[in-house]
Amino acid sequence: MTETKERNLYEKISKETVFKKLEDIFGIKNVTDKPADLYPYSYDMTECEPHMPDFVVIPENSGQLIELVKFCDQNSIPIVPYISGNNVGGLTIPEQGGIVVDFGKKMNKILHINDNMMYALLEPGVTFGELKKHLDDNYPHLRYSYPFAPPYAGVVGNVILSGMNNLSCKLGSMGDSINGLEVITADGELIRIGSCFYGKDTADDDSWWSRYPMPDLMGLFINWQGMTGLVTKCAVQLWPNPPFKKTYLGIVFGLPDIGPVIREVGRTEIVDDISAVSIEVVKMAVELPEPVKIAGEPDFACLFSISGKTESLLRAKEEYLKLTIENLKKKGIKILLVDADEFTKLFSLRVRCHLDLPAVILSLVEYSGLTWFGSYAPTHKLELLIPKVNDLFIKYKVPPFIYMKIMKHAHYGIFRPILRYNKYKDEEKIHNLLNEIAELCIAEGCIPYKTPAWMTEKMRKVINPGWLKLFDKIKSCIDPNNIFNPGRWNT
Ligand SMILES: Cc1cc2nc3c(=O)[nH]c(=O)nc-3n(C[C@H](O)[C@H](O)[C@H](O)COP(=O)(O)OP(=O)(O)OC[C@H]3O[C@@H](n4cnc5c(N)ncnc54)[C@H](O)[C@@H]3O)c2cc1C
Repeated sequence: MTETKERNLYEKISKETVFKKLEDIFGIKNVTDKPADLYPYSYDMTECEPHMPDFVVIPENSGQLIELVKFCDQNSIPIVPYISGNNVGGLTIPEQGGIVVDFGKKMNKILHINDNMMYALLEPGVTFGELKKHLDDNYPHLRYSYPFAPPYAGVVGNVILSGMNNLSCKLGSMGDSINGLEVITADGELIRIGSCFYGKDTADDDSWWSRYPMPDLMGLFINWQGMTGLVTKCAVQLWPNPPFKKTYLGIVFGLPDIGPVIREVGRTEIVDDISAVSIEVVKMAVELPEPVKIAGEPDFACLFSISGKTESLLRAKEEYLKLTIENLKKKGIKILLVDADEFTKLFSLRVRCHLDLPAVILSLVEYSGLTWFGSYAPTHKLELLIPKVNDLFIKYKVPPFIYMKIMKHAHYGIFRPILRYNKYKDEEKIHNLLNEIAELCIAEGCIPYKTPAWMTEKMRKVINPGWLKLFDKIKSCIDPNNIFNPGRWNT
């Protein structure tokens, strides 16, 4: 689906000279051009066309990266920042070759936890699993917010792509929870953004506590898919970890009726997270990979997580959740509310994984291919989107897998039809289905995130021209030689 563009990188400088320079900067053990080493960086789980990088380097510090960026800018050599390649959008495939910078191996330290102002200062390679363990072992009174991504996916990769995690009903997009960034731009400048901006050469680790009130330059690096600079440090907010937690499972009969259910519960302002999935996904979770829906079965299941600093606060929230469900029933919605913690005991520990994130969710990783139309969505359109997309799944004889979230107490939502498939076997069918879903959802105003280039191509046709002009102007101003992750957003 993505068109692979060939770019003659070694007109100005030979490949041998580049290799020598990389060895000088990173040391012989941290540079490779061997095909066997490069191959794993050439593809991901999605439909996006593979492409080999020319080199992979493993940095240890920002000094090395400044030298690299200056050299690549002079010689117009692409740099593709990489953490663990789990973005599910082909975003780290080096579409035009060049150098993959793998942050995951050595720039993966938790630099500081500020317990007082509740944030973690991270290098880009820190994973969800590492952050969770560090907090549980050392700061059990603090928590972070986790996605359904595996524990080996990167925290910084997630926040700079506006991830949606298991506190998102309260917090909204994870991009909003960034306090500060340290970034290297194409001219080799090291920039600190946020309250950490005081101090010429260094910043106190305790100064990364706020993003405002200066002009918000952070927007130049969030959602840009590594196209505007290399993030070398990132401060993310943490939150108090309440001792009392509970998850309820809502089972809903009637395809579109899940819309009002999750919107109404979202508006109660008492839930940490709401995620809803087609009922077929519940069957996948209990190890039925190709489920068939039986007449009379419910259509959707949703998880509502609540928490409280005291038991009575948790009970009050439970009471209000139950009242909200009762009111929905009075309006004719058929819904059952069950205790998810009890429900999961009926099955293997794999089902429990959905409640104890981060975890490897079997239904998402059991095939060689995984892709989705992941989007921020207008929630008033859910009733229209759900049956239409469900019909598309049925048309292609693929078990429906619709995943939704309510964000920031129902100000907006996530609509994500997910496709798992066998690569090299079902690829054509899955591409066609995804393409139809994308066309339908974009026409209804959904805004895809973690967008592969074939999808941004579609979006460009309907985006306001003024926006596109400004976007292209910013990219060419901040990265005039188009060295950072070229090809993304069709640059
Ligand atoms: C099974 C599965 C389930 C998932 N579920 C969810 C979910 O529920 N919610 C959710 O939000 N996400 C989800 N994701 C996506 C995932 O959480 C994030 O996209 C992931 O955490 C990104 O981290 P990464 O290590 O894979 O980054 P990568 O994929 O390596 O990089 C992500 C992007 O950031 C850029 N980048 C990397 N490092 C830097 C840097 N230092 N400076 C600048 N740019 C950089 C890359 O070029 C790329 O564009 C899921 C993924 C999988 C595989």
